[in-house]
Amino acid sequence: MGGSTECYDVVVAGGGTAGLALACALADALRSARIAVIDRVPLSQPGAGMGALTQPRAFALSAGVKRMLTVLGAWPSLAAHAQPVTAVDITDSSLEDVFRPVLVTYDNTVDGGEPATYIVEQGRLREALLAAATERATIRLIGGARAVGFKANEESVSIELAGHDACTLVRAALLVAADGRQSPLRASAGIGVVRWSYPQVGITTTVGLKQPHGGRATQHFLPSGPFAILPLRGDRASITWTEESETARAILARDDAGFLTEVAKRFGYRLGAITLAGPRASWQLDMHLARALIAERFALVGDAAHGVHPIAGQGLNLGLRDVAALAEVVADAARLGLDLGSVTVLERYERWRRLDSALSAATFDALNRLFSNDWTPLRSARDFGLGLVERMPGLKRLFVAEAAGLTGDVPRLLRGEPA
Ligand SMILES: Cc1cc2nc3c(=O)[nH]c(=O)nc-3n(C[C@H](O)[C@H](O)[C@H](O)COP(=O)(O)OP(=O)(O)OC[C@H]3O[C@@H](n4cnc5c(N)ncnc54)[C@H](O)[C@@H]3O)c2cc1C
Repeated sequence: MGGSTECYDVVVAGGGTAGLALACALADALRSARIAVIDRVPLSQPGAGMGALTQPRAFALSAGVKRMLTVLGAWPSLAAHAQPVTAVDITDSSLEDVFRPVLVTYDNTVDGGEPATYIVEQGRLREALLAAATERATIRLIGGARAVGFKANEESVSIELAGHDACTLVRAALLVAADGRQSPLRASAGIGVVRWSYPQVGITTTVGLKQPHGGRATQHFLPSGPFAILPLRGDRASITWTEESETARAILARDDAGFLTEVAKRFGYRLGAITLAGPRASWQLDMHLARALIAERFALVGDAAHGVHPIAGQGLNLGLRDVAALAEVVADAARLGLDLGSVTVLERYERWRRLDSALSAATFDALNRLFSNDWTPLRSARDFGLGLVERMPGLKRLFVAEAAGLTGDVPRLLRGEPA
């Protein structure tokens, strides 16, 4: 490692949703600390890089995450683009079935009528977080630079950069890797992953609706995987759809008219005819869990720490829960005058987040195995189970509280309090 060196208190590698949210939370909690966010894509213009508004991906943000974004000042600019989900319908049928009967339906609000989830397009979320980070004077956004490796010792951690003109090395008390599912820094730390691939591909697109959706989300369980219809502002819906890999490749190869026919076949007819209202995207599904969340002066958050099946739309919410927990333990350390990157601080973070991530990954994996299946006895049993759930309002309330991110040991930011 050579060249000039810049010094910070915390360096966040990866300026995706998790990295930007963490930088904002730390800037608020550690008033005079200097924080750097490094990303291989440009971070200077809202809407630039992978967050461009044309990305078809949309997230189901939990009520807890909405509270956190409010504390971080990102929610006001997002609110007009966020669609509250007022109710959820669940069906379980074959692809050929013309009618998809609703087996479970529930009100998607928590105490006091607050929606448990909001659907937000990825580009809007990124734009809001980028603006919030830019407004904070103690955050330095370094776009177009890759963090390629690091070395830690008792005093500090040194991070090697590639592609950045001003310096080749940055130093900090703590390095956080928010660099996504392939996480080059996780590899550099020598942290392995438990990973398996699903024989399924995720497909996402946006459709236009003839009839208003009324804030209802629908999950059609189909033999090849779940097909989620997430309501968006402006009589549109985001589709997040899991399909058996070979069928998915054939569907993705079709032209727009052919692709729309496939979407419509799964969508159902409750909202009338649909149109394509955006591009399509796809990704190979896998599940991965880092074998550790920390190393010397180093922590993992977001997809760098775990990747889960999209069946429950919880991947990003889990990552933001990491962010809220890490910001809280670091803020507590700063209040006590402790070293921000010390083992004690990082071990508290790992204890807090390890079990939740592993349990969530296992739960979503089991749900996918249970529902992406057309074996008649299993289908009968799960439809019987869904029928029971439909008759148990207490259980439905528990599911909604879970989706709202308000169960378990909830970090302060997700309760709507500063870290
Ligand atoms: C199609 C799709 C739909 C989804 N839908 C949902 C949903 O409805 N709800 C939900 O909760 N989750 C959803 N997810 C999951 C969600 O997208 C991820 O969990 C989330 O984006 C992870 O955020 P992150 O910030 O951890 O990582 P990323 O968004 O992957 O960000 C990582 C960042 O690190 C940068 N980077 C990588 N390497 C380096 C390096 N060496 N140096 C510097 N920077 C680097 C990248 O450029 C990137 O900006 C979905 C995922 C997909 C693919």
